[in-house]
Amino acid sequence: MRGLLVGRYQPFHNGHLKIVTQILEEVDEIIIGIGSAQVSHTLENPFTAGERVMMISKSLAKAEITYPYYIIPIPDLGRNALWVAHVETLTPPFEIVYSGNSLVQRLFKEKDYNVKTPPLYNRMDYSGTEIRKRMLLDKEWKDFVPKEVIEVIEEIDGISRLKEIAKEASPDLTDQSGVI
Ligand code: NAP
Repeated sequence: MRGLLVGRYQPFHNGHLKIVTQILEEVDEIIIGIGSAQVSHTLENPFTAGERVMMISKSLAKAEITYPYYIIPIPDLGRNALWVAHVETLTPPFEIVYSGNSLVQRLFKEKDYNVKTPPLYNRMDYSGTEIRKRMLLDKEWKDFVPKEVIEVIEEIDGISRLKEIAKEASPDLTDQSGVI
């Protein structure tokens, strides 16, 4: 059986890695769909689809995840009613969908997919929003992502990118808490 896990992975963090590991106990193959693949260089989505593919594939390799998996970038579509069909054209066939996003859950349920909510681990720290905030404020974030993700972010100078985007969005960098 094949399962689809959809997320934005901005960035891929330890919570995502745990979810992937757990899903692989339930299915034979996993498809990791990278949502909003066309978006990058924004506060909510700083990293490109290619950069997110690197983060995920290097982290899975290091974690010795050898099951067949597919990492598929999925650009957004302006029409929610057609989104599931759009996903189906981009991915291998799947029977189960894993997502914590209520819209994603609804859209797949309406097409009769079996939808499950993956468990969340240490949500205080393993959260894309929290990690991006910490990167901006020069707080500790490296403990919350796989080492390979740190290497990718260093390779692309990701922290400088995020800080420049934040500066453009809110020149008063003293109030960054509400910008991401
Ligand atoms: P999201 O709405 O981008 O993120 C929702 C939040 O849920 C994130 O903060 C995420 O945290 C968190 N989350 C992660 N795993 C969770 C879980 N197991 N339970 C509860 N919350 C969890 O949604 P997403 O699920 O990450 O990504 C969905 C993607 O589908 C998006 O890229 C969206 O644009 C796309 N989509 C597109 C269309 C369309 O184009 N018409 C329609 C529907 C969905 P982390 O940041 O830590 O992961």
